[in-house]
Amino acid sequence: MAVVVVVFAALFGGAFGSFAGVVASRGLAPSLGGRSQCDSCARTLAWYELVPLVSFPALRGRCRTCRAGIGWRTYIWEVGGGVLAAAIALTVLLITGRAGS
Ligand SMILES: [Zn+2]
Repeated sequence: MAVVVVVFAALFGGAFGSFAGVVASRGLAPSLGGRSQCDSCARTLAWYELVPLVSFPALRGRCRTCRAGIGWRTYIWEVGGGVLAAAIALTVLLITGRAGS
C-alpha cells in the first residue's frame, strides 16, 4: 500500500512540478489556457504523452510528430516536483508508521 501512495504522490508532484515549470517560463495566464501542445509543431499532446515522469523518457525527449526536442527544463521541474512529493509522502508514512503495511 505504501508503494502505491508514494507512486501516486510522485505522479501528482510531477504534474504539479511540470505545471510550475511552464508557469516559470511562460507566465501564469498562457499556462492556464487550453491543453499542452508541442512548442514546435503546435500539435495538441495526447494524454499518454503528458504522463508525469514517464512520458519524457518514453518519447526520448522528442515530439512524436516533428521530432523536435521537448525542453529538458520542464522535465527537471517535473522530476523535482515528483521527488519532493514522494519524499513528503514517504516521510508522512514513516511518521505515522504505515510504511511497512
Ligand atoms: Zn511537434
